[in-house]
Amino acid sequence: MNQNNPDPLALIKERMEKACRAAGRNPDSVRLVAVSKTHPGEAVLDLYLRGQRIFAESYADEGVDKISALGLVDAEWHYIGPVQSNKTRMIAEHFDWVQSVDRLKIVRRLDEQRPAGLDPLQVLIQVNLDDEPQKAGCTPDEIASLAERIGECRRLKLRGLMAIPAPRGEFADQKRAFEHLHALYRQLQADHAGIDTLSAGMSADLEAAIAAGSTMVRVGTALFGPRNKSEAGT
Ligand SMILES: *Cc1c(COP(=O)(O)O)cnc(C)c1O
Repeated sequence: MNQNNPDPLALIKERMEKACRAAGRNPDSVRLVAVSKTHPGEAVLDLYLRGQRIFAESYADEGVDKISALGLVDAEWHYIGPVQSNKTRMIAEHFDWVQSVDRLKIVRRLDEQRPAGLDPLQVLIQVNLDDEPQKAGCTPDEIASLAERIGECRRLKLRGLMAIPAPRGEFADQKRAFEHLHALYRQLQADHAGIDTLSAGMSADLEAAIAAGSTMVRVGTALFGPRNKSEAGT
């Protein structure tokens, strides 16, 4: 798939390890989420057979089709796309995590619709760090009240924050944006028990995210190759 590098998974793990070492962090402290949106189930299966267990999708219908077709019992599926209220039921029934919770209506619906027989849905609040109108996510000011409401939900478990900062070319600028996010994360940790996940960093900026304290990187392009632009969404 990626002609220049026959083993993208090994390369990403190397990048993560190197970034952890540079930051004086334990390599086990950052988890890899393989973002398989727009890529076929076979691509997921390839990585699964090599030991990868965490996958993410951005489109509810496509994600549920893949989850159902593959039936990988010990895989962990994360929903990372904008959450439309008419899709909350399928998301609540099929995914293990939702990283893109950004408003109260979605909190309520996911809590009501998470089936009782499943573990609570693991939830991250998505923050729109750069105040970009086209992007999902709450403002930094809204985190505290959303977190409080999620804390009251029996079928949801709040684990932390997720953000997609605006693209920046320079490492120092990338890192500064992620440090802002990390400060918001530390505040959330101070206010709530069980906050252990900061989802930050993608193919182009995972080193800066890890330098600033990310505990989970979401990598698509560097693992699966380029997406069809018209379908890619981000
Ligand atoms: C698509 C997507 C990614 C992966 O981005 P790449 O640049 O392809 O690694 C990560 N996070 C979210 C929320 C996405 O939508």
